[in-house]
Amino acid sequence: MNYPPLYLRKNSERTVRNGHPWIFSGAVDRRPKDADTGDVVDVFDSNQRFVCRGFYNKRSLIRVRSLTQDASCPIDSAFFEQRIAQAVEYRRSTDLASVTNAMRLVHGESDGLPGLIVDDYAGYLSIQLHTAGMEQQRQVVLDALHTVLSPKSIFERSDVGTRRAEGLKDRPTGLLAGEEPPEFVEIEEHGVRLHADLYRGQKTGFFLDQRDNRFLLQRLAGGKKVLNLFSYSSGFSAHALKGGASHTLDVDISQQVMLSARRNLTANCPAESKAELLVADIFPFIDELADRGPRYDIVVIDPPSLLRKHNQLKQAMGVYTKLNRNAFRLVADGGLLVTASCSARVSQDDFFQIVRRAASGARVRTRILTYNQHSADHPVDPAFPDGRYLKCIFARINR
Ligand code: SAH
Repeated sequence: MNYPPLYLRKNSERTVRNGHPWIFSGAVDRRPKDADTGDVVDVFDSNQRFVCRGFYNKRSLIRVRSLTQDASCPIDSAFFEQRIAQAVEYRRSTDLASVTNAMRLVHGESDGLPGLIVDDYAGYLSIQLHTAGMEQQRQVVLDALHTVLSPKSIFERSDVGTRRAEGLKDRPTGLLAGEEPPEFVEIEEHGVRLHADLYRGQKTGFFLDQRDNRFLLQRLAGGKKVLNLFSYSSGFSAHALKGGASHTLDVDISQQVMLSARRNLTANCPAESKAELLVADIFPFIDELADRGPRYDIVVIDPPSLLRKHNQLKQAMGVYTKLNRNAFRLVADGGLLVTASCSARVSQDDFFQIVRRAASGARVRTRILTYNQHSADHPVDPAFPDGRYLKCIFARINR
């Protein structure tokens, strides 16, 4: 076990010792001589004491991503097998398997595997490698997934922008091992039949992180008229229809998502209900619709991250506030707004502030029924707040 050493500046080791997995470039005193991007390095403090072992990247602001603080732990196939097995065991300790056959099995840093995402859709794995370190360990990781999980197949969806910050190119998507997944993989979530599009869908094919919030909507939607904005493959409306919603309208800008959306709606729509789909840019659409006054019992609004860089926070909060103000204006008296933000940089406090300002701008009184984060298969390491990204509020409205 001989990994190139990297030395930190004085007093730069505390957050990593406390469990945060990232070391930024400013904390590094001397760059390692014999290490290249993607290699494993040993990190020492200014007193030459071992701090951690992790992936090195000389191009990224995140210079090291810690894998272990145990100096006697080699980064080899046994390491990856053990970490993956631990992550799977954690999911088994929840009730997830009794409510769904689709879940995130490995959630990057939060499972001690920086840059690795593994989603399981009924035995078909869809994976992403986000970091140069994980990319270098590709074969070891794939072998470990086979050993621990014996999946039907492993499909890759590393066509993600975050790879660029690591100096990596997008990879072509496709099958890495096993049988070709079907065009739409059928999955189930709280009694709702859904379809994941591993080939062309966003992320790994489906947004698993909103599962609990979709299910809560299912239980509140009986007899209601629902508007679902930024609807992707219509997961929220499929749940609402299952729960007895009388009418749903889903709006998304992507023509591509409509194939899976149509399937998900049809599979769950009772004969007496009506499910509509619309391709539109929501920003102008909602401006115009909101001017026509309240017309829905429930409005769901789940936009993509509206913020990429730190310095855009103020601007992004303005955009979120305007969207939510318009959404509030569309909810009938006594109705419900379900609003989410998936940007880690928008904190819980920021999000409450957005909702408060939006309600005030729309002149409605509002009470928050629940405040949720992502489902349990997207666990949070309290030492890694960056992993706490999804916020979802269910707010009751009175005029
Ligand atoms: N609520 C969904 C996930 C939404 S992801 C679920 O539970 O599965 C965000 C969606 O917003 C994506 O499908 C994307 O195509 C869509 N989107 C992004 N910009 C948009 C815009 N300007 N107008 C409408 N939809 C947009």
